[in-house]
Amino acid sequence: MRQLLLLLLLGWVPPGWAQPAPAFTVVPLGVKGGLAEGNLSAYLVAAAGSPGYIALDAGSLRPGVEKAVANHVFTAPVEEVLRQQIKGYCLSHPHLDHVAGLLLNAPDDAPKPIYGLPACLATVQQDYFNWRAWPNFGNGGPPPALGKYQLRALVPGQETPLENTPLSVQAFELSHGPGMQSTAFLVRSRESYLLYLGDTGADEQEKSHYLRALWRAIAPLVQAHQVKAIFIEASYPNSQPPAQLFGHLTPVLLLRELGALAQLTGSAALRGLPVVVTHLKPSPGNEAIIKQELAAGNALQARFIFPEQGVKLVF
Ligand SMILES: [Zn+2]
Repeated sequence: MRQLLLLLLLGWVPPGWAQPAPAFTVVPLGVKGGLAEGNLSAYLVAAAGSPGYIALDAGSLRPGVEKAVANHVFTAPVEEVLRQQIKGYCLSHPHLDHVAGLLLNAPDDAPKPIYGLPACLATVQQDYFNWRAWPNFGNGGPPPALGKYQLRALVPGQETPLENTPLSVQAFELSHGPGMQSTAFLVRSRESYLLYLGDTGADEQEKSHYLRALWRAIAPLVQAHQVKAIFIEASYPNSQPPAQLFGHLTPVLLLRELGALAQLTGSAALRGLPVVVTHLKPSPGNEAIIKQELAAGNALQARFIFPEQGVKLVF
């Protein structure tokens, strides 16, 4: 018995006790919901053990890769990670704080696809890649089209392979304020899933049913413990007046949405589920209040994670 205890203390794992191997590697390149120009929404995701990443949003790229390289998350130099290890981009919506890193690094980037819902891609092509806001790095729009990026429209609810990775993605529409569409990406690696929500308001405020539909779609996967992590925003503290939410969530609204998911799955399915909280607006005092409000309301016992730029996560 003492020998077993010693072996356990030394990190020996008896056969059959092993944790399931992780399915995803995530490298947050930017985590803040505004203000911090060098640290805006962008999350690299890869199948565990694969060197090919997809960027979920691209608010800040280079500063995040620089930090990750300094943290020994990557062994390749910054340029090579940006050009070669990022195999493509999934853009949730075309707000500048989600695309600025992609635009600014485009001149030095290697050719690759940009995935998104048609309306998001149309804005990127027409309003950025138009030779007025920025050169036309797209494959349509005003000539000459440089064709560095292939804009690949996703069809909601239909799975699309992410080129040069073992991953595939399914897009779900979200509502991000009046007339503003956003997207949730359900990324699959074999039998495992990672759900990333771009900016979103709550169904009640948005007068929409998009989150309800998303929860219905993923509920069976959550019940089967195939969803390894959910990335969802909490931009403002609970004190933010409803008229000034601008299509975002607060802790109480996020918790209410998790409650809506739990109604479909049973609350046991959410216990310990990693919920990565994104897009906290870094105004003075804001982030500490959001963290405290989430912890205080966490009756479902989800595992809230607050990502840090350049610090690897595995799920
Ligand atoms: Zn936005």
